[in-house]
Amino acid sequence: MKTKKQINEELMVIHHLFPSNQTELIRKTPFQLLVAVILSAQSTDKQVNKVTSTLFQHISYPQDILILGENTLKEQIRSLGLYITKAHNIYKMSWQLLSEKYKWVIPRRIEELTQLAWVGIKTAKVVAHQLYGEPYIAVDTHVHRVCQRLWWVKSKAPEQTSKLIEWLIYDTHKYLAHHALILFGRYHCKARNPLCEVCPLQKHCTYFGKMR
Ligand code: SF4
Repeated sequence: MKTKKQINEELMVIHHLFPSNQTELIRKTPFQLLVAVILSAQSTDKQVNKVTSTLFQHISYPQDILILGENTLKEQIRSLGLYITKAHNIYKMSWQLLSEKYKWVIPRRIEELTQLAWVGIKTAKVVAHQLYGEPYIAVDTHVHRVCQRLWWVKSKAPEQTSKLIEWLIYDTHKYLAHHALILFGRYHCKARNPLCEVCPLQKHCTYFGKMR
C-alpha cells in the first residue's frame, strides 16, 4: 500500500486533470439537486439530465411534487431504472421536507439527510458536498475502481473504500477529491479501455504495471 503522502500527491495530479467541483447533474434549486441525485441511482447523469430537462420545468420545490402527484411523476421518469420506487420515495421525501421537522430546508448533516426517503449515505454526501461545501467524498463504482488500480486501498466494495479513503485523504483535500475522483474514473481511468497511454500516473499505477 502507499503512504498518505503519496496518495495525496497522486490525488493532486488527478485534480489538475479534472479541476471541476460541480456535479454534471443540471439543476437550479437545492431541491432539484436532491431529486436529480436520487434519480441518478443506477442511471447515468446524461439519462437523468434528459428526464429533468422536462421535469424541472414544473418542479423546483417539494410542494411542486405534491401538486404533480406520484403517478404523473412516475410517468415522467419512466425511462430511468427503478422509476416506480424512485417516484414513490421522491413523493414521500417531499412530504417529509414540508413537515414541521424540516421546515422546507434540506438538512446539512448526514444524520438528518439519511432520514429522508431513499437518501443513503452516498446520496447524502453528494448533496452535502454540493449544497453546503461539506468535505465529503462519495465513493461510487468509478472512485472504487480508481482507488484499487492505484493501490490506494485494497477493498471489495465501495462502502469499504469509502471508509478507508476518508482516513487516507487529507482533510484539506477532501472537498476537491470528490469530483476529481468521480470524473477521473468516469472519463479517464474507465472500466474498459482506460487512457493509460496518456495517463500522468502511469508509473505509480499497479494496474498499468501488471498490464505491460
Ligand atoms: Fe487508470 Fe491507466 Fe492511469 Fe492506471 S495508468 S490510473 S489504470 S488510466
